Amino acid sequence: MDKAALKARVCEIIRERNAEIVELGRSIFAEPELGFKEVKTSAKIKAAFEKLGLECETGWGITGVKARMKGKASKRTVAMLGELDAIVCRTHPNCDAVTGAAHCCGHNVQIANVYAVAAALKEAGAMEYLGGDVVLFAVPAEEYVEIDYRSKLRDEGKLRFLGGKQQIIAEGGFDDCDIAMQMHVAVTDNPEGDMMYAGSCNGFIGKLIEYHGRAAHAAGAPSQGINALNAAMMGIMGVNAIRETFREEDCVRFHPIINAGGDLVNVIPDYVKMESYCRASSVKALSGYNKAINRALKAGGDAIGARCEIKDLPGYLPLAPDAKLAECLRENAAAMMGEKNVFSGVHSAGSTDMGDVSQIMPTVHPWVGCVKGTLHGADYVVDNEEVAYVKCPQALACMIVDLLWDDAEKADEICREFKPVFTKETYCQFLEDLSAGKN
Ligand SMILES: [Zn+2]
Ligand SMILES: [Zn+2]
Repeated sequence: MDKAALKARVCEIIRERNAEIVELGRSIFAEPELGFKEVKTSAKIKAAFEKLGLECETGWGITGVKARMKGKASKRTVAMLGELDAIVCRTHPNCDAVTGAAHCCGHNVQIANVYAVAAALKEAGAMEYLGGDVVLFAVPAEEYVEIDYRSKLRDEGKLRFLGGKQQIIAEGGFDDCDIAMQMHVAVTDNPEGDMMYAGSCNGFIGKLIEYHGRAAHAAGAPSQGINALNAAMMGIMGVNAIRETFREEDCVRFHPIINAGGDLVNVIPDYVKMESYCRASSVKALSGYNKAINRALKAGGDAIGARCEIKDLPGYLPLAPDAKLAECLRENAAAMMGEKNVFSGVHSAGSTDMGDVSQIMPTVHPWVGCVKGTLHGADYVVDNEEVAYVKCPQALACMIVDLLWDDAEKADEICREFKPVFTKETYCQFLEDLSAGKN
């Protein structure tokens, strides 16, 4: 079989197995689970892989499931990822009555895509034409939620980091992968559906900020107090005063809230608690601006004589799609969805833990327009199942064939040219340092 014939066969199989692919997607949609608790979802994908004759490794990041399809040689490995977790949306008609979990970020569609690609490559006998392996990886906990619960898991030694892909990177789950790809649903009003194949995302650092002052009678003896609220306001003003140094291309966001700002009006506030994210578009920018923001926040305390304590928490790193990989995806997506429905994309100020993977290996994370309503919202609905469950997995499966065809030349070239920001070790160290306040 030549490459074009193999790609055609792979696409045909995805079409033929449509009912079972959609059923898996819908079944996961019907039983949403939150991150690191995706027990039923994990069991479903394991059963589906095993039905295809794939051997599964379980327990990656607690609930993750990994399977490998071996090529005629194993020169490079392409990992196709899908996320297991749901988000909380208590107003969504299909939410879990107890937990409020709902699949209104469409991660169930990702899992169905992983299965579709696996089934098509398997049934087509594709691996005997490919010079590399394919890893199918269902991964947990993309949504950065339930921080208390996850911190408890960390205290118990079950987690090192709070995001699913972060945890799996640390566990070594990606050590035997060279390239990572994952689709994500997106909202569109294009009736034909569309794909943004190379959109990038901000990274973020979570921040807990406390100001400690001294209580005193607010009217009778303010001179004896140290006003923590004034310190916090000065801190915020300090950050505002350096906003003009934030470069447009770094896409910095600092958006604090005050969770505790004093107890009684007649007492000088001795304690103020704030939370924020520092977001930026590259690791270097994230690190640099976070330092500057911390300096300004601390200066607020210094100005008033209050003590400022800042705890930085590792969030997610910026998503930087690999240009050559994205071009390979563009060609295949255009063939399925039409040139006019496939576009490069824009930078988003939001974040995903696929960003962390993209700092270590060549990555693509296309946003696939097949949804109506609002992501994470009550009106979210998969509107274009043809794009979600047929055209998207067809494009992804064909992309894998291109990357690994014959002696995996294309995958190999992309990997050789890729310049990682981190190795696994320096990545873990970066996150640990951040938690320890060293960044
Ligand atoms: Zn989401
Ligand atoms: Zn999502």
